[in-house]
Amino acid sequence: MTASQQIHHFINGRAYADPDGRTGAVYNPATGEIAASVALAAPATVERAIAAAEAALPGWAATPPLRRARVLFKFKDLLDQNADKLAAIITAEHGKVLSDAAGEVTRGIEVVEFACGIPHLLKGEYSENVGTNIDTYSIRQPVGVCAGITPFNFPAMVGMWMFPVAIACGNTFIWKPSERDPSAALFIADLFKQAGLPDGVLNVVHGDKGAVDALLHDKRVSAISFVGSTPIAHYIYETAARNGKRVQALGGAKNHMVVMPDADMDQAVDALMGAAYGSAGERCMAISVAVAVGDAGEKLMQKLKPRVEALKIGPGTDHESEMGPLVTRDHLNKVLSYVDAGLKEGAQLVVDGRNFKLNRQGYEDGFYMGGCLFDHVKPDMTIYREEIFGPVLCVVRADNFDSAVDLINNHQFGNGTAVFTRDGDCARTFVNKIQVGMVGVNVPIPVPVAFHSFGGWKDSVFGAHGMHGPEGIHFYTRLKTVTSRWPAGVREGAQFVMPTMK
Ligand code: NAD
Repeated sequence: MTASQQIHHFINGRAYADPDGRTGAVYNPATGEIAASVALAAPATVERAIAAAEAALPGWAATPPLRRARVLFKFKDLLDQNADKLAAIITAEHGKVLSDAAGEVTRGIEVVEFACGIPHLLKGEYSENVGTNIDTYSIRQPVGVCAGITPFNFPAMVGMWMFPVAIACGNTFIWKPSERDPSAALFIADLFKQAGLPDGVLNVVHGDKGAVDALLHDKRVSAISFVGSTPIAHYIYETAARNGKRVQALGGAKNHMVVMPDADMDQAVDALMGAAYGSAGERCMAISVAVAVGDAGEKLMQKLKPRVEALKIGPGTDHESEMGPLVTRDHLNKVLSYVDAGLKEGAQLVVDGRNFKLNRQGYEDGFYMGGCLFDHVKPDMTIYREEIFGPVLCVVRADNFDSAVDLINNHQFGNGTAVFTRDGDCARTFVNKIQVGMVGVNVPIPVPVAFHSFGGWKDSVFGAHGMHGPEGIHFYTRLKTVTSRWPAGVREGAQFVMPTMK
């Protein structure tokens, strides 16, 4: 990639350069350099994409699900063949380490695999003789033109939670990826075209609020899927609903991991290291709070501190790196300011990663920081209440299991959570009582597999349906229920005489 590289939209099966000319910078976070500039769509460009999706809709919706599935099978094949290239594109613009980018690609491919089963997934229900000679059946039909607005932190996977399912269901789609790492979406859309997807079925439009607002207000768009921060999710939900669209809007998170005194401490520490510092904490399912119950606190801190100090930080392309840079300098500064706030509010900064510098030629200006570890964090502190979205783990001490559960249930967010224990009763009670959408038992990041559905509770989600799995199929289809009675027909059996009109 070169600084002069222009990243265009993908509309109706080909690249489209925005005549308006507004652009944004795309960085290589590992070096801090501007790597490319991305077009930021004017409303007229968004309208062009909507028109392409609308024109492609009747043909695609009428294509038998089995044929749609055949295109998806080819798409999956091409994704498998190009998985390394896609991972490299993600790392170049996001900064996460290559192995993690490859994991993101795999999780995205799994949704395509799920969507390949669409002929089976669209099977309806049939009840014979609901009244005398009356039958009732229900079918699911496409909703129309759909749009997906996605965050920077999973530039491939989150879009792939949405459009493979939407398109398998017979809809057409406009993907508005994050303007901070836009290239993965283009690469994926091109693979889908190569797999035989008709032009206009999947379009990619880059942009910021202007592009999103154009999607939210256009009557031709029937459904909006959003994943991003909570304030924007709320805005999307309200605006799209006011404009008569169905909408699913997933927001931010503050995921707690409860460590019970009987937990295997080495296992818990390993889990926390990956879940808190993997992808530099820029995951909606990252663990950002460890709740140490009773005397688990001291044991946990003893083992955790040296591990955080020893984190291997470097460019995502270096196979030795465990943690790469943050996505932009602005985001790095925001995370650092949270660490300052935590100190001011009286939390104990046990590991301070603020002054980390990577002394490697060419990478001195990358957006790096070291892992930070806070102990004795209190529920009223900003670092506890707000999502930091960086490599900062807060440890809260809880006297007992019940107060750990109350703490989590009183938090604004309810995306993911986990409990680490050897006690089955404790684990079962946790699963039953906790007010959170995705729960792990000795599993730190309980992201559901593609054939289940992903979604949080409370301020982590607005709208009724989760992503992919059965919820995804429901979101991207409208239910039609038919009640049918036929007048008595001709029942004489076969006639071997030439029929004549009498
Ligand atoms: P973001 O909310 O800033 O941006 C998300 C998308 O919204 C982007 O495409 C962006 O261009 C667009 N956008 C930004 N501001 C807008 C505005 N004012 N009006 C309309 N559109 C706007 O989020 P981000 O920083 O890209 O991603 C990080 C956030 O996403 C975190 O809060 C994280 O928890 C959340 N996230 C949640 C999940 C989940 O499943 N719940 C998954 C991944 C990320």
